[in-house]
Amino acid sequence: MRNDHSALGLASTRRPAQPVTCIRPHAAARAARFFTEKFPGKVLYAVKANPSPELIQLLGDSGVTHFDVASIAEVRLVRRIHPQATLCFMHPVKAPEAIAEAYFQHGVRTFSLDSHDELAKIMAATDNAADLTLCVRLRVSSGHSKLSLASKFGAGVEDAPDLLLATRQAADTLGVCFHVGSQAMSPQAYADALAIARAAIVQAGVTVDVVDVGGGFPSAYPGMMPPPLEAYFEVIKTHFEALPISYSAELWCEPGRALSAEYASVVVRVERRRGDVLFINDGAYGSLFDAAHVDWRFPVTLLRAEASRAKEMGFSFYGPTCDDMDFMQGPFMLPADIQAGDYIEIGMLGAYGAAMRTDFNGFRADETVVVADAPMLSLYDDADMEASRETLNVAGTAE
Ligand SMILES: *Cc1c(COP(=O)(O)O)cnc(C)c1O
Repeated sequence: MRNDHSALGLASTRRPAQPVTCIRPHAAARAARFFTEKFPGKVLYAVKANPSPELIQLLGDSGVTHFDVASIAEVRLVRRIHPQATLCFMHPVKAPEAIAEAYFQHGVRTFSLDSHDELAKIMAATDNAADLTLCVRLRVSSGHSKLSLASKFGAGVEDAPDLLLATRQAADTLGVCFHVGSQAMSPQAYADALAIARAAIVQAGVTVDVVDVGGGFPSAYPGMMPPPLEAYFEVIKTHFEALPISYSAELWCEPGRALSAEYASVVVRVERRRGDVLFINDGAYGSLFDAAHVDWRFPVTLLRAEASRAKEMGFSFYGPTCDDMDFMQGPFMLPADIQAGDYIEIGMLGAYGAAMRTDFNGFRADETVVVADAPMLSLYDDADMEASRETLNVAGTAE
């Protein structure tokens, strides 16, 4: 893979005709080290957020030994890259064939479920295995989060105790898990969810060996600057330690976004300007699904060798396809003199960016370069960044 010094250098020297993904291994390594050193339990990377093999390799090399996988393709992918990693199949509704292949061919022992039907399915597909870790997914609120995960999965308060009892009978190791919704803007989300877990455990009267607080850890975006991640870890630790569980019980988390958002950005070209709307060469069917469909505000910057002195104004974007839905409302703040031929870097696209690209209308672009500059925003500090650069042996750039 090609190396460029920075996104600006790439745009000004190469003037690419297609969108280019800039990846920052130093930023992902820093995030991985932060989580594995500071989270008071095990860290599972949620592969869904960004399944690129380079990132999976890098996270494993940076201390992440466990992976949250949700499909048989993700199981095979991670197993190929990390033969020794622990894989946890945390989708509560799985195909029986996927369970069987994961268990018998890939050594997967941990599965989640939120119904008696799924419990029976797992037991049948594994020939009633006696070595399973089964995590009951509880339904919790997404009230503090920017993207809800509250309605599709999870056993409700009335059903959870009975399901916990039944799962305890079948499992070697019993866990509870939940997801507070993605981009949780307050640590209180985890306190509230752990209160629901506590009530379910008390009512069921079972011994729980694993408490998995799921994903939802935030990243930084314009207008969405969360509290420090340490504050989340503190609240989780306090509430975990107060649970009525065995003293050897394990605490797990499944960050996707927080481990991957800073890993990638995309350099796009403005093909046309129409007032305050810019037609750019990536969009809703490319790496900007969230910008189009949930109005996510990614940070943007104009990449010009000589910085513009014009005042900033808000722009919307059209993507390259011939479809009205290929529209990103923004507002994205950029200098008022931006014009066709200019390049823009769109940041924080390592999570749920490249992962959602399609071939629609012939506009898929997969060119990727490694850059050494800092991500546009960060929740991790510079000391961690310097250490990551040293480990990966890449040069930093003066900002
Ligand atoms: C999507 C998902 C995650 C990752 O969520 P983030 O908000 O990206 O941290 C973790 N666990 C499960 C079960 C998920 O579905």
